[in-house]
Amino acid sequence: MTKQLNNGHCASCGEFAFATTDYIDRYYRSNQVIDWQAHHIVYCQSCGLGFIAPDVPADKLTAFYESFYRADSASAMFANGSGQGLLDSFRVDPRSLSQATTVAMMHDFHNQEILRFLDVGCGETGNSFYSFSRVFSNKKLQHFAVEADCVSIGNLERSAVTVIGRGCESVKEYVGQFDIVLMSHCMEHLTLAMLDGFLPDLRRALTANGVCLVDVPLDDFRIEERQGQHSSPHTTFFTQEAMRNLLTHHGFELLYLKPMDISLRDWVNSNESDCGSTGGQYRSLMSKLIPLFSRSARNRVKQMLADPYDVFQENYYQVNSGGTTLRALFRSSNNGDSRRTFDE
Ligand SMILES: [Zn+2]
Repeated sequence: MTKQLNNGHCASCGEFAFATTDYIDRYYRSNQVIDWQAHHIVYCQSCGLGFIAPDVPADKLTAFYESFYRADSASAMFANGSGQGLLDSFRVDPRSLSQATTVAMMHDFHNQEILRFLDVGCGETGNSFYSFSRVFSNKKLQHFAVEADCVSIGNLERSAVTVIGRGCESVKEYVGQFDIVLMSHCMEHLTLAMLDGFLPDLRRALTANGVCLVDVPLDDFRIEERQGQHSSPHTTFFTQEAMRNLLTHHGFELLYLKPMDISLRDWVNSNESDCGSTGGQYRSLMSKLIPLFSRSARNRVKQMLADPYDVFQENYYQVNSGGTTLRALFRSSNNGDSRRTFDE
């Protein structure tokens, strides 16, 4: 346990007051690689940062994911067997569209014509590449991925996505390379020790005007929000406060940090007020996105004409998150001010 703590102090807030709670494993009991039931969760009583104990070494964690998520790659083949259409309109994914929208609303890429976009752990479908291309349709996007699944890698490469490596350690080789990095429901699968090595690499990998968007499940053991939910196979657990402290500690500046558990209307309104705008920009951006939706999804667009907020229904922010999502957008803290001003 001491290895995961800063001389016994919380890696996020520096306090020294810990409690433990059970690690709840409902899905992987039969797994031979890691006996999740033998673990518990240690959490900081000050900021709520949680981590698995005893620590799981990176190679063992990789072996676990190989044995489970990538056992047959059947889902990857089903999702996109031909490798065609990854950057085409085969699917409109509300979650990655909402992530791209957050980046577009909260950050200004000035007059950059080309954006180098990296999705760490893009997964079998790589939906983010299409979503970000459409939201940033006035830019030329170059697509990069960190992905471990062999079938997915083939699909990505056939779709002109450059796969830079199979694990997040591959980011180390890329200094000042990426304008946008996305980590969607990925960071909670790294241990605290792995994050400690990865976050400095991530900071170096961003361009001077680069940003990173992270979505993780929101877990606050201090108020037992997660009680009764499964923990596996997550290894690090975040509160809003823990995420803020951890990123600040690693030299990042937060541009956006919010739980996604408010109503969509409130989320839109709060985003627009965060941007210092007078409103309307989100709706304007959304109206450009309507044509992307498939015929079936256009049923929702009919509602959208009455209420534009219905397109991204609230539960789409939560899909596969096992609970409420916490979203963070941040950049290296030694950059100048580049917050979007909405003067377009
Ligand atoms: Zn703490």
